[in-house]
Amino acid sequence: MSDGTTGSRFPQAQSPGSHSSGSQSSLHRANLDRVLHAVRMAGALTQAEIARSTGLSAATVSNIVRELKVLDMVEVTPTSSGGRRARNVSLSRASGVVVGIDFGHRHLRVAIGDFAHRVLAEEHVPIDVDSSADEGFALADRLLGVLLERAGAVRSEVTGVGLGVPGPIDIDTGALGSTTILPGWVGCHPREAMQDRLGLPVLVDNDANLGALGELVWGAGVGCTEMAYLKVSGGVGAGLVIGGRLYRGPGGTAGEIGHITLDESGPVCRCGNRGCLETFTNASYLLDLLRGSHGTDLTIQRMIELAKAGDAGCRRVVADAGRHVGVGVASLTNLLNPQRIILGGDLAGAGDLLIAPIVESVGRYAIPSASRRLTVVTGSLGERAEVLGAMAMVMSEMTPFAVERTPQMLVAGAST
Ligand SMILES: [Zn+2]
Repeated sequence: MSDGTTGSRFPQAQSPGSHSSGSQSSLHRANLDRVLHAVRMAGALTQAEIARSTGLSAATVSNIVRELKVLDMVEVTPTSSGGRRARNVSLSRASGVVVGIDFGHRHLRVAIGDFAHRVLAEEHVPIDVDSSADEGFALADRLLGVLLERAGAVRSEVTGVGLGVPGPIDIDTGALGSTTILPGWVGCHPREAMQDRLGLPVLVDNDANLGALGELVWGAGVGCTEMAYLKVSGGVGAGLVIGGRLYRGPGGTAGEIGHITLDESGPVCRCGNRGCLETFTNASYLLDLLRGSHGTDLTIQRMIELAKAGDAGCRRVVADAGRHVGVGVASLTNLLNPQRIILGGDLAGAGDLLIAPIVESVGRYAIPSASRRLTVVTGSLGERAEVLGAMAMVMSEMTPFAVERTPQMLVAGAST
């Protein structure tokens, strides 16, 4: 995504007569990329932290940071680390801003942030479940305009847009699948449509993956390298983080934990199999269990309120759902040996009433050596997890302006 402005911003690359060694300058360039990458992934790091995470010497880091600061690619601000004075390094505003747009089943959320991981502006508005995809995209476009103004940014500063959509995307065609919760959106190509409308590069992903990224960068997953975000709403989907990065699989379907088989002769699932985990956790199954005792007007939200207030029937239904989810979590634990499982989605609102039976199932079905280090928690970002994750996706997968404009010359002749 080069815009050809490199030459105007930075001095020219080394002249043909230069005696700088090519291998030395490419080594320096590689070190510079390592520093920029570490800073960008963490938001802000002290120089000592940069040295630790890149394996470079303190002197090399110090030289590189000085170079980057002269070029206005990083900001350096005083801070304290362990009681000692230190300097925090983060990418400068010249790196551009990132946008997150998330279509949930009730709300559209838009957020703007920078590469220092600061949220500059954020807003959500209700959307009509019967609206068309075009109407949704137009609304997102208008809201983005308002927020850019609020953040003091302009469209040309936007590096990229992360888009969360309420349903599965076909990785080959880019079309939204038929199981989306917004019926008017089936078959639309959200990435292309949004890209055309905004005139900006767009990345798209599903809610579980974006929830995982949001919690990893800003929420309950900070510091984890192996974790899973479980979205327990209509279906059950997991966003998997392995080695500190989101794992999608070659077909983009990794984390479909809702379709592990719990009962071969159980109810038929929307995927065509029988007795999948999510046939025992979806709203209509849970509410049907309570129909006789609690009537037909009950909602998941109300069921959780009643459970928290001590209603025995609602508590039992939440606990059984937790035990079923726990079977899936136990499988994940045996496979991934994660540090943390973070719960999101409607059912996560039940908190400990859901967590305790999950932990009980993990104790029963996972091997002790895999579950020893595991904690199960609810997410700390609530309904913001996906929109923040959409921003995090752009931060980790798109190249900031300042970095893509990094010229070769920066490094020619500079000491490592
Ligand atoms: Zn299924």
